[in-house]
Amino acid sequence: MADFTLVDTHTHLNDSKFAGSEAEVIARANEAGVTRLINMGDTLQSSAKAVELAATYDGVYAGVGIHPEEIYELGTADDEQLTAWTREKRVVAIGEIGLDYYWEKDEEKRALQRRMFIHQLDLARQLQRNGTGNLQNGLVYRR
Ligand SMILES: [Zn+2]
Repeated sequence: MADFTLVDTHTHLNDSKFAGSEAEVIARANEAGVTRLINMGDTLQSSAKAVELAATYDGVYAGVGIHPEEIYELGTADDEQLTAWTREKRVVAIGEIGLDYYWEKDEEKRALQRRMFIHQLDLARQLQRNGTGNLQNGLVYRR
């Protein structure tokens, strides 16, 4: 066993393609020395799954947020849900958030991405959580 800890700071074990095999994948990661995993939500549904996995498995943590490709005008109910999740066990970040201009070419939708990126970063600041996500090909933002 490695004498250091490896942390995968951005996984998607909450993706439906891993449904039912999460324990096996986590065990394989642990055998390889990766003892901490942070699952990123990219929608409300996948954020809920990330929270569930964090509550279920030791060494598994969660980020909750809406990915730029999935973003919409977030309302009070969305903010309250994201806020409530940050109070759950091992929820450590607001993510996956960011800007994705590689796929998004529409200027109005890019403007929405910018507004909601700032909105979710502000939520992260208020909740004293890290914001994490991507900016085109990858950026990790740390408050
Ligand atoms: Zn991701």
